Amino acid sequence: MTTISTGNNTIQLPEPHTLLQPAEPIQQLLETTSLYLHIPFCHTRCYYCDFNTYAGILPMREPYVRALLTEIALAGQAARHADGRKRRSRTIFFGGGTPSLLSVSQITRLLQACHEAFDVDADAEITLEANPGTLNAEQLTGIRAAGINRLSMGAQSFDAKLLQTLGRIHTPAEITQAVQYARTAGFTSINIDFMFGLPGQTMQHWHDTLDQALTLRPEHLSLYSLIVEEGTPFYTWAREGRITPGDEDLCADMYEYADTLLRQRGYMNYEISNWSLPGKHSRHNLTYWLNLPYIGLGAGAYSFFGDERYSNERDPATYNKMLQAGRLPKVESETVSRQQAMSETAFLALRTAMGLHLPTFEQRFGEPFAHFAGDRLHTVEEAGLLEHSTDWLRLSPRGRLLGNEVFLHLLPD
Ligand code: SF4
Repeated sequence: MTTISTGNNTIQLPEPHTLLQPAEPIQQLLETTSLYLHIPFCHTRCYYCDFNTYAGILPMREPYVRALLTEIALAGQAARHADGRKRRSRTIFFGGGTPSLLSVSQITRLLQACHEAFDVDADAEITLEANPGTLNAEQLTGIRAAGINRLSMGAQSFDAKLLQTLGRIHTPAEITQAVQYARTAGFTSINIDFMFGLPGQTMQHWHDTLDQALTLRPEHLSLYSLIVEEGTPFYTWAREGRITPGDEDLCADMYEYADTLLRQRGYMNYEISNWSLPGKHSRHNLTYWLNLPYIGLGAGAYSFFGDERYSNERDPATYNKMLQAGRLPKVESETVSRQQAMSETAFLALRTAMGLHLPTFEQRFGEPFAHFAGDRLHTVEEAGLLEHSTDWLRLSPRGRLLGNEVFLHLLPD
């Protein structure tokens, strides 16, 4: 633990290596990868969703799984070390979409393919995103036996009316039921997602939802404020005045209330939107925040591997065709320069509650952050936007409010 004193507050920060199991030097972690498998199927589209996901194409599941199996094999081959060794993978994440719409046998085949193509850690964190309305006891027992060891449920609210407002297919009772099934199936690592700032959501709704969530004692909670994205029904309805999302002040109050409550109940806020019980943080999430390599597989998935950032074909039918032809479905890519990687590493870390671990930055790039940022660091610090200890740099409460402006002033273009 590192202790930072800021005015009247004393904050205990974990070392980043204690958040990554097992503790390893950064250069070793950079030689590994994480795998993300995108499953783009949903029963219906929620009104706020802008993910690359589709309703009405469930019959495409099996051809898509076959395409994904091919991509896993090709990607594993491409990611091998120069001496032919398979690339080590620390985490696997089935995201979507609704991965729980796949059968146990499809999930099992995909996991087997990952193990064949990559050197998956024996204790790898393997997560499956699930919609509580699509889960049953038998299926959860099956996927646990197949090797899924972490479940992430998109619950969003315990209020039936708000769930309808969002266009979700599940009921509050199904959330509780799904967690009970998961516990019976042997899951000891469960995340539940909830949203705040929803149209019609009051502070009382939020208190009730969090109270009910805490009775289930999930190991991890992700709390997101609603963002109304262009192209979604919510965007149209908000413009037409048919819905009014929560305003900034209400969202800030909801966030603060949740943070205080969760800390009192033993959860640690290790990233802006994520809280976990000790040792139950998501290793896969941290891959992104620590700017470590990951390989995205499936339609529209993104990757950051070597010095390249690239994305896959978004349309599932076209994606399937490319793989049937034996081609990797990469459609866009860019080379990430050393300077870009340094800026991005700092930017991503400063968005987390932990901040940037300065010794790790220096070990990774062979240059201290203070040298990289130069005079900009002093200017931003003098403006009271950063908190600095020997080992850590993080945004001050004022810096957090100004967010992007701080990054603009601190980081080179
Ligand atoms: S279940 Fe998730 S991925 Fe599917 S439409 Fe709803 S929000 Fe989007």
